[in-house]
Amino acid sequence: MRTLVPLAALFGVIATPLAAQPPGGMAPGGMAPGMGARNWDDFEIASPEHVAGNIYRVVGGIIVNMAFSVGDDGIIMVDSNFEDLTEKIFTAIREVSTQPIRFLIDTHSHGDHADGNVSFGMAGTIIVAHDTVRIRLAHPPQGASAPAIALPIVTFSDRVTFHFNGEEVEAFHIAAGHTDGDVLIHFKGSDVIHMGDAFVSHYPLIDTGRGGNLLGLIETLDAAITRVGPDTKIIPGHGPIADRDDLIEFRDMVVGIHDRVSALVVEGRTLEQIIAARPTADYDQRWAGPQGSEGIVRAAYNASTKR
Ligand SMILES: [Zn+2]
Repeated sequence: MRTLVPLAALFGVIATPLAAQPPGGMAPGGMAPGMGARNWDDFEIASPEHVAGNIYRVVGGIIVNMAFSVGDDGIIMVDSNFEDLTEKIFTAIREVSTQPIRFLIDTHSHGDHADGNVSFGMAGTIIVAHDTVRIRLAHPPQGASAPAIALPIVTFSDRVTFHFNGEEVEAFHIAAGHTDGDVLIHFKGSDVIHMGDAFVSHYPLIDTGRGGNLLGLIETLDAAITRVGPDTKIIPGHGPIADRDDLIEFRDMVVGIHDRVSALVVEGRTLEQIIAARPTADYDQRWAGPQGSEGIVRAAYNASTKR
């Protein structure tokens, strides 16, 4: 059985008010505060779950969704999770395929998605990511630089297509949203898209320390919605596999909060007044999760004042 950490452990931000977080809400390496003290031996990696077509999902660490494509050409992996978990992740992948892991695509630079790059790099996997992910890993806002072996050796600004396992796999960047290196991976034949942390099962985190912007996130979500169909399986960065309606609901929530906060900014309210007005109140039960609503309000305020 899959062992999941409580949702309360997500990003590790529970015990620390957002105001006390370092810029961007992340500690060294983009990991949650205190992450180094976690006992990773307690974290199990469940058997991969078939999503559709060539694609499997693996859940690990702080409920991060990794995915991989299997077939005659080998394996394309999406996200590497934490370095301390990669041995278990490799074991899980090997339950499905013994083919070489030829490519790893990072959805962005946060440690819970890219810290394990080092293991994949050492195994000879070609790491692919947005241009800025290489820069963020080499020169993180806080914490130590990733070793050279962990850095993407293929980077792109816009999109790249793999012709792999009988289908087109398009990795593409729309705009700086969750971070400035957000990449979505569309397995076109399998009809599966991995959204990274541009889509999660709670309020999105906008990591301004890594160039994130709420308006860019909305742009990214709009682009994804136009691309997917009613049967597309949508893998969020964190949370259950979703469909187009779920993605639209998420986009509408983000747009709704942005519009409310924007209107309050136009009225001349300060950030403190806007937070006190609780513009997210009717969304909170569904979306606040353990990290609360202040982060999304701040992100909407930033997007409304720095346009
Ligand atoms: Zn992230």
